Amino acid sequence: MGNALIVGNWKMNGLSAALGEIAAMAAARDDLWVAPPFTLIASAVTTAQSRLRIGGQDCHAKLSGAHTGCVSATMLVDAGAGFVIVGHSERRSDNGESDADVRAKAMVARAAGLDVIVCVGETEAQRDAGNVEAVVGKQLAGSLPDAVDGLVVAYEPVWAIGTGRTPTPDDVAAVHGFIRAQLVTRFGAAGQGVRILYGGSVKPENAALLLGQPNVGGALVGGASLTAASLLAIAAAAS
Ligand code: PEP
Repeated sequence: MGNALIVGNWKMNGLSAALGEIAAMAAARDDLWVAPPFTLIASAVTTAQSRLRIGGQDCHAKLSGAHTGCVSATMLVDAGAGFVIVGHSERRSDNGESDADVRAKAMVARAAGLDVIVCVGETEAQRDAGNVEAVVGKQLAGSLPDAVDGLVVAYEPVWAIGTGRTPTPDDVAAVHGFIRAQLVTRFGAAGQGVRILYGGSVKPENAALLLGQPNVGGALVGGASLTAASLLAIAAAAS
Protein backbone atom coordinates (compact mmCIF):
# COMPACT_ATOMS: atom_id res chain seq x y z
CA MET A 1 0.00 0.00 0.00
CA GLY A 2 2.31 2.78 -1.20
CA ASN A 3 4.64 4.45 1.22
CA ALA A 4 4.45 3.73 4.92
CA LEU A 5 2.76 6.37 7.05
CA ILE A 6 4.76 7.15 10.19
CA VAL A 7 2.85 8.92 12.96
CA GLY A 8 4.44 10.20 16.17
CA ASN A 9 2.41 10.38 19.39
CA TRP A 10 4.21 12.54 21.94
CA LYS A 11 1.70 11.76 24.72
CA MET A 12 2.20 14.11 27.72
CA ASN A 13 5.72 15.06 26.66
CA GLY A 14 7.10 18.18 25.04
CA LEU A 15 7.71 21.77 26.13
CA SER A 16 8.40 24.59 23.72
CA ALA A 17 12.06 23.59 23.47
CA ALA A 18 10.88 20.42 21.72
CA LEU A 19 9.81 22.49 18.71
CA GLY A 20 13.41 22.08 17.59
CA GLU A 21 12.61 18.40 17.01
CA ILE A 22 9.59 19.40 14.91
CA ALA A 23 11.83 21.72 12.89
CA ALA A 24 14.39 18.97 12.34
CA MET A 25 11.71 16.47 11.25
CA ALA A 26 10.22 19.01 8.85
CA ALA A 27 13.61 19.86 7.41
CA ALA A 28 14.27 16.21 6.58
CA ARG A 29 10.91 14.92 5.30
CA ASP A 30 7.47 16.07 4.24
CA ASP A 31 5.46 12.91 4.93
CA LEU A 32 5.45 12.50 8.73
CA TRP A 33 2.46 13.04 11.02
CA VAL A 34 3.11 14.17 14.60
CA ALA A 35 0.70 14.58 17.51
CA PRO A 36 2.33 16.83 20.12
CA PRO A 37 0.47 17.86 23.29
CA PHE A 38 -2.39 20.34 22.75
CA THR A 39 -0.23 23.19 24.05
CA LEU A 40 2.24 22.83 21.18
CA ILE A 41 -0.14 22.22 18.27
CA ALA A 42 -0.38 25.78 16.97
CA SER A 43 3.33 26.48 17.33
CA ALA A 44 4.21 23.10 15.82
CA VAL A 45 2.01 23.92 12.81
CA THR A 46 3.90 27.20 12.38
CA THR A 47 7.27 25.53 12.85
CA ALA A 48 6.52 22.68 10.44
CA GLN A 49 5.56 25.06 7.61
CA SER A 50 3.25 22.50 6.02
CA ARG A 51 6.03 19.90 5.80
CA LEU A 52 4.53 17.80 8.63
CA ARG A 53 0.92 17.01 9.38
CA ILE A 54 0.28 18.03 12.99
CA GLY A 55 -2.54 16.40 14.95
CA GLY A 56 -4.23 16.03 18.31
CA GLN A 57 -4.04 13.06 20.67
CA ASP A 58 -7.72 13.23 21.56
CA CYS A 59 -10.81 15.39 21.14
CA HIS A 60 -14.15 15.71 22.89
CA ALA A 61 -17.24 14.06 21.43
CA LYS A 62 -19.05 17.42 21.40
CA LEU A 63 -18.07 20.52 19.47
CA SER A 64 -18.41 23.03 22.32
CA GLY A 65 -19.97 23.51 25.72
CA ALA A 66 -19.47 23.12 29.45
CA HIS A 67 -16.66 20.56 29.44
CA THR A 68 -13.87 22.08 31.50
CA GLY A 69 -10.40 21.07 30.42
CA CYS A 70 -11.49 19.46 27.14
CA VAL A 71 -10.60 20.30 23.55
CA SER A 72 -12.98 19.99 20.60
CA ALA A 73 -12.31 18.82 17.07
CA THR A 74 -13.06 22.30 15.71
CA MET A 75 -10.51 23.77 18.13
CA LEU A 76 -7.94 21.35 16.73
CA VAL A 77 -8.81 22.44 13.19
CA ASP A 78 -8.61 26.07 14.27
CA ALA A 79 -5.11 25.45 15.66
CA GLY A 80 -4.04 24.01 12.31
CA ALA A 81 -4.30 20.28 13.08
CA GLY A 82 -5.04 17.87 10.26
CA PHE A 83 -5.80 14.71 12.20
CA VAL A 84 -6.63 13.35 15.62
CA ILE A 85 -5.91 10.09 17.43
CA VAL A 86 -8.93 8.63 19.24
CA GLY A 87 -9.29 5.57 21.43
CA HIS A 88 -5.64 5.26 22.39
CA SER A 89 -5.38 2.55 25.05
CA GLU A 90 -4.12 5.12 27.56
CA ARG A 91 -7.31 7.12 27.03
CA ARG A 92 -9.41 3.97 27.24
CA SER A 93 -7.76 2.91 30.53
CA ASP A 94 -6.92 6.27 32.20
CA ASN A 95 -10.21 7.94 31.26
CA GLY A 96 -12.56 5.00 31.03
CA GLU A 97 -13.39 5.64 27.39
CA SER A 98 -15.76 3.07 25.89
CA ASP A 99 -16.03 2.01 22.27
CA ALA A 100 -19.13 4.22 22.01
CA ASP A 101 -17.16 7.21 23.33
CA VAL A 102 -14.39 6.56 20.82
CA ARG A 103 -16.86 6.24 17.94
CA ALA A 104 -18.56 9.51 18.95
CA LYS A 105 -15.19 11.27 18.95
CA ALA A 106 -14.28 9.75 15.58
CA MET A 107 -17.59 10.89 14.06
CA VAL A 108 -17.28 14.45 15.34
CA ALA A 109 -13.65 14.64 14.22
CA ARG A 110 -14.57 13.53 10.71
CA ALA A 111 -17.43 16.03 10.61
CA ALA A 112 -14.94 18.76 11.58
CA GLY A 113 -12.70 17.75 8.69
CA LEU A 114 -9.96 15.94 10.58
CA ASP A 115 -8.53 12.61 9.52
CA VAL A 116 -8.96 10.21 12.39
CA ILE A 117 -6.73 7.43 13.71
CA VAL A 118 -8.84 4.94 15.68
CA CYS A 119 -6.75 2.75 18.02
CA VAL A 120 -7.58 -0.81 19.00
CA GLY A 121 -5.61 -3.56 20.73
CA GLU A 122 -5.74 -6.30 23.31
CA THR A 123 -4.22 -6.52 26.79
CA GLU A 124 -1.72 -9.23 27.65
CA ALA A 125 -4.33 -11.18 29.61
CA GLN A 126 -6.70 -11.06 26.64
CA ARG A 127 -3.95 -12.35 24.33
CA ASP A 128 -2.98 -15.10 26.77
CA ALA A 129 -6.62 -16.17 26.92
CA GLY A 130 -6.72 -16.47 23.12
CA ASN A 131 -9.17 -13.60 22.77
CA VAL A 132 -7.31 -11.25 20.43
CA GLU A 133 -9.80 -11.47 17.57
CA ALA A 134 -12.82 -11.25 19.86
CA VAL A 135 -11.44 -8.16 21.62
CA VAL A 136 -10.18 -6.37 18.52
CA GLY A 137 -13.31 -7.30 16.57
CA LYS A 138 -15.54 -5.83 19.27
CA GLN A 139 -13.46 -2.65 19.45
CA LEU A 140 -13.65 -2.22 15.68
CA ALA A 141 -17.39 -2.85 15.60
CA GLY A 142 -18.01 -0.30 18.35
CA SER A 143 -15.36 2.35 17.72
CA LEU A 144 -15.22 2.96 13.98
CA PRO A 145 -17.11 5.80 12.32
CA ASP A 146 -19.71 5.12 9.63
CA ALA A 147 -17.48 5.71 6.60
CA VAL A 148 -13.89 5.06 5.59
CA ASP A 149 -13.10 8.55 4.27
CA GLY A 150 -10.25 9.99 6.33
CA LEU A 151 -10.08 6.86 8.47
CA VAL A 152 -6.86 5.20 9.67
CA VAL A 153 -6.90 2.24 12.06
CA ALA A 154 -4.01 1.62 14.48
CA TYR A 155 -3.47 -1.84 15.96
CA GLU A 156 -1.64 -1.34 19.24
CA PRO A 157 -1.39 -4.34 21.56
CA VAL A 158 -1.56 -2.74 25.01
CA TRP A 159 1.23 -4.97 26.35
CA ALA A 160 3.59 -3.75 23.62
CA ILE A 161 3.13 -0.02 24.29
CA GLY A 162 6.16 1.50 25.98
CA THR A 163 7.46 -1.93 27.06
CA GLY A 164 10.09 -2.71 24.45
CA ARG A 165 8.17 -5.90 23.65
CA THR A 166 6.51 -6.52 20.30
CA PRO A 167 4.40 -9.29 18.79
CA THR A 168 6.17 -11.59 16.36
CA PRO A 169 5.96 -10.53 12.71
CA ASP A 170 3.57 -13.47 12.13
CA ASP A 171 1.32 -12.27 14.96
CA VAL A 172 1.33 -8.74 13.53
CA ALA A 173 0.44 -10.13 10.10
CA ALA A 174 -2.35 -12.27 11.58
CA VAL A 175 -4.03 -9.42 13.46
CA HIS A 176 -3.66 -6.96 10.59
CA GLY A 177 -5.17 -9.58 8.25
CA PHE A 178 -8.06 -10.00 10.67
CA ILE A 179 -8.58 -6.22 10.85
CA ARG A 180 -8.53 -5.99 7.04
CA ALA A 181 -11.17 -8.72 6.80
CA GLN A 182 -13.35 -6.92 9.34
CA LEU A 183 -13.01 -3.66 7.40
CA VAL A 184 -14.00 -5.34 4.15
CA THR A 185 -16.95 -7.09 5.79
CA ARG A 186 -18.18 -3.78 7.13
CA PHE A 187 -17.30 -1.34 4.36
CA GLY A 188 -17.06 -3.57 1.29
CA ALA A 189 -14.29 -2.92 -1.24
CA ALA A 190 -13.59 0.47 0.38
CA GLY A 191 -12.30 -1.42 3.40
CA GLN A 192 -9.34 -2.56 1.29
CA GLY A 193 -8.10 1.02 1.08
CA VAL A 194 -8.07 1.80 4.80
CA ARG A 195 -4.56 2.17 6.13
CA ILE A 196 -3.79 0.02 9.18
CA LEU A 197 -0.87 1.15 11.35
CA TYR A 198 1.01 -1.03 13.80
CA GLY A 199 1.92 0.56 17.15
CA GLY A 200 3.82 -0.70 20.17
CA SER A 201 7.55 -0.31 20.80
CA VAL A 202 8.41 0.49 17.18
CA LYS A 203 12.06 1.48 16.98
CA PRO A 204 14.56 2.03 14.17
CA GLU A 205 15.85 -1.53 14.71
CA ASN A 206 12.52 -3.34 14.34
CA ALA A 207 10.64 -1.00 11.99
CA ALA A 208 11.55 -2.70 8.71
CA LEU A 209 10.50 -6.14 9.92
CA LEU A 210 7.23 -5.05 11.52
CA LEU A 211 6.26 -2.69 8.72
CA GLY A 212 7.15 -5.28 6.10
CA GLN A 213 4.21 -7.48 7.10
CA PRO A 214 1.11 -7.68 4.91
CA ASN A 215 -1.60 -5.11 5.66
CA VAL A 216 0.79 -2.97 7.74
CA GLY A 217 0.56 0.50 6.23
CA GLY A 218 2.79 2.30 8.70
CA ALA A 219 3.46 2.83 12.38
CA LEU A 220 2.10 4.77 15.32
CA VAL A 221 5.17 5.57 17.40
CA GLY A 222 5.26 6.79 20.99
CA GLY A 223 8.60 6.98 22.81
CA ALA A 224 10.73 6.80 19.69
CA SER A 225 8.90 9.77 18.14
CA LEU A 226 10.18 12.30 20.65
CA THR A 227 13.39 13.02 18.82
CA ALA A 228 13.82 13.75 15.15
CA ALA A 229 16.78 11.38 15.01
CA SER A 230 14.80 8.31 16.01
CA LEU A 231 11.56 9.14 14.17
CA LEU A 232 13.54 9.85 11.00
CA ALA A 233 15.46 6.58 11.43
CA ILE A 234 12.16 4.70 11.69
CA ALA A 235 10.85 6.46 8.59
CA ALA A 236 14.05 5.63 6.72
CA ALA A 237 13.89 1.98 7.79
CA ALA A 238 10.26 1.78 6.70
CA SER A 239 10.98 3.04 3.21
C1 PEP B 1 1.81 4.67 21.47
O1 PEP B 1 1.70 5.33 22.49
O2 PEP B 1 0.94 4.77 20.60
C2 PEP B 1 2.97 3.79 21.34
C3 PEP B 1 2.97 2.93 20.37
O3 PEP B 1 3.99 3.94 22.25
P1 PEP B 1 5.46 3.28 22.16
O4 PEP B 1 5.93 3.43 20.75
O5 PEP B 1 6.27 4.07 23.13
O6 PEP B 1 5.31 1.84 22.53
